[in-house]
Amino acid sequence: MKKYILSIDQGTTSCRAILFNGSGIIEGVEQREFEQIFPKSGWVEHDATVIWKTQLEVIKNVLYKNNISPSQIEAIGITNQRETTVLWDKNTGKPVYNAIVWQSRQTEEICERYRSSDFENYVKENTGLVVDPYFSATKIKWILENVQGVKEKAQKGDILFGTIDTWLIWNLTGGKLHITDYSNASRTMLFNIKTLKWDKYILEKLDIPESILPKVVNSSEVYGKTAKNLLGEEITISGIAGDQQAALFGECCFQKGSVKNTYGTGCFMLMNTGENMIVSKNGLVSTIAWGIDGKIEYALEGSVFIAGAVIQWLRDGLGIIESSRESEFCALQVKDTAGTYFVPAFTGLGTPYWDSDARGIITGLTRGVNKNHIVRAALESIAYQSADVVKAMEKDSGIQIKNMCVDGGAAANNFLMQFQSDILGCEISRLQVIESTAMGAAFLAGLATGFWKDREEIENLLISDRHFTPEMDIETRESKLTGWKNAVKRAMSNQPL
Ligand code: ADP
Repeated sequence: MKKYILSIDQGTTSCRAILFNGSGIIEGVEQREFEQIFPKSGWVEHDATVIWKTQLEVIKNVLYKNNISPSQIEAIGITNQRETTVLWDKNTGKPVYNAIVWQSRQTEEICERYRSSDFENYVKENTGLVVDPYFSATKIKWILENVQGVKEKAQKGDILFGTIDTWLIWNLTGGKLHITDYSNASRTMLFNIKTLKWDKYILEKLDIPESILPKVVNSSEVYGKTAKNLLGEEITISGIAGDQQAALFGECCFQKGSVKNTYGTGCFMLMNTGENMIVSKNGLVSTIAWGIDGKIEYALEGSVFIAGAVIQWLRDGLGIIESSRESEFCALQVKDTAGTYFVPAFTGLGTPYWDSDARGIITGLTRGVNKNHIVRAALESIAYQSADVVKAMEKDSGIQIKNMCVDGGAAANNFLMQFQSDILGCEISRLQVIESTAMGAAFLAGLATGFWKDREEIENLLISDRHFTPEMDIETRESKLTGWKNAVKRAMSNQPL
């Protein structure tokens, strides 16, 4: 009987279920989008019950459509949108409020209350993070403060908290397991990534009862089985990781100093820093990559808010290209950007600038500039912003990055990847399977049950698509980077207009 690993990829906009065979090849995919709820400007929520139902439906469909019985599933691995927060009543299984999504800014006011330098330093040193609405802690506090009766119920022990991995596993096991893995725990701003325990000082400070928190487990181990009535068979669950960490694992970035960059709407870059937790001095956060056999590997993480989204804007906002893919064709019509730089700070600038009031600009316009130059400058901006994150990682880790693994929709753009390699002076490796996130969850699950023997075996499953090698001379690179830095200065909010 042929066996598979079922990867559950619960993302921000859709639920997916993907079947991997023993060679790491995808044999079936089902995906369904679900509703985004925007109650107020800057707020983003999901209906957690809808997430669960949608996820279950795609799981059933991927089995049914590919004619695979549940008994052929060796194990399930789960990867999920990180930080998104659900609180539910453990007696009824019903969420007490919508899931508050990672992007949501509704807890800005709560964060403001806690932004003293002492507390911020404590948080940074012990959780690796910054006090920001992005992370789960203030989302939990918001629900406890704003939804009537929840605080009292929580004190009585009737409320459970979970990120989406926890919520799905609780439902998959019929309420038996209330767990999360190290990688997801490290995104809550409540988990001490040095002592590997929920941090009592932060819990007390935020007045969050420890009883609502899940048990923290390894990212790869047999946790339990799905309830029999769900899929007709009990299926082993044996892998969990937050989406970015799962992608790092899926790209087999196992060595200290190895880096992956995901080019989606924004960019998420992670560097494996091995057994060392590095407290960033350059605008990055520290996080747990994964914990396996109780052994933790850490990562540095940086993000770019607008990456592929600038190409969407050229298409939908300006209307100068018809598809994202056309951007590559346009960029190659010209030999350079004719001195223009495009800083797409539409929603501020992330790592390493952290300027939420910066706004987008195009500099250096002359009559000789045409649409192809603008498109090229937009693509180059994705590479420059990623290069800024790489530089921050190099400074924090003291490791020079010689090779970067890439995935995500915009990594398909060959011009962009070559320019990235040129501007960094480093090799870029692109895999054939671009589903690194789902693959990472599958690898974690399969390693726990012996479906795959060890890391070496899964490294051999990866099939390379293309390598990009730097071709630009150093003077050109330096002069372009100087031009970029000047353009960024003009986009920043502290510059006189
Ligand atoms: P997300 O997971 O954030 O939704 P994806 O990984 O699906 O993102 O990537 C989609 C993004 O990549 C879009 O912003 C799109 O504009 C961009 N994109 C897709 N294909 C290309 C391409 N060939 N060149 C440049 N950008 C692209």
